[in-house]
Amino acid sequence: MAGARKPKLAVWKFASCDGCQLSLLDCEDELLAVAGAVEIAYFPEASRAMSKGPYDLSLVEGSITTHHDAERIQQVRRVSKHLVTIGACATAGGIQALRNFRNVKEFISIVYANPAYIDTLSTSTPIADHVKVDFELRGCPINKLQLVEVLSAFLAGRRPVTPAHSVCIECKLKGNVCVMVAHGTGCIGPVTHAGCGALCPSYHRGCYGCFGPMETPNPRALGERLRALGMPARDVQRVFRNFNAQAEPFRTESGRHDA
Ligand code: SF4
Ligand code: SF4
Repeated sequence: MAGARKPKLAVWKFASCDGCQLSLLDCEDELLAVAGAVEIAYFPEASRAMSKGPYDLSLVEGSITTHHDAERIQQVRRVSKHLVTIGACATAGGIQALRNFRNVKEFISIVYANPAYIDTLSTSTPIADHVKVDFELRGCPINKLQLVEVLSAFLAGRRPVTPAHSVCIECKLKGNVCVMVAHGTGCIGPVTHAGCGALCPSYHRGCYGCFGPMETPNPRALGERLRALGMPARDVQRVFRNFNAQAEPFRTESGRHDA
């Protein structure tokens, strides 16, 4: 319609690997439709052309790991009508949240030649710990079709429809043989959020939880089952303490298997 203003989209990066932003660029055919429906006003990963806010929808990738991040996310929230976090870093602190279980100063002294130059927080935390978040899209990286659904939903003024059930349901829908029941392979699909189409079990491997916790998970029962299958405590801790280590159900369960 002539003269109608397109909604303005912004994409922001915090501590992350850029993989979730690349999922947006990887949309290819869908991206053209997205670009037709919204004004991509701020997306430094894709373009040097940047328009000032306010923005109708902000997608935020990455976690908060520095004082500067903590200030910047407040500014992002102020200029965003809706704010959606994308990926394990933004929704659960990411792999960098492993620092939360140790003394970060010790790492800095080992890794950097001049530790005095490093100014960082002792934790990596999800965006929702700092500002109001309107929707969280999980995954490491996110599923691009779910991202298109999120964009469509916000354009249409409705809540996105993404399943909150476990990877096990996706396994059953695909007709996979369960690797844990049939072969005793450790798998945390029973507590992991759907979204990947049960990718790993489809190739006869256990799930290691890159989509984070499902709705109402029972990681304690699964942790006990993994131990009963012969998985050492250290490995049970590791399987819960990876990309989504800071997500509460996984964090608590990993702490129960301190070796
Ligand atoms: S293979 Fe894993 S995700 Fe699939 S049904 Fe078995 S436990 Fe669930
Ligand atoms: S680790 Fe789990 S959630 Fe991640 S792709 Fe494999 S099956 Fe899917």
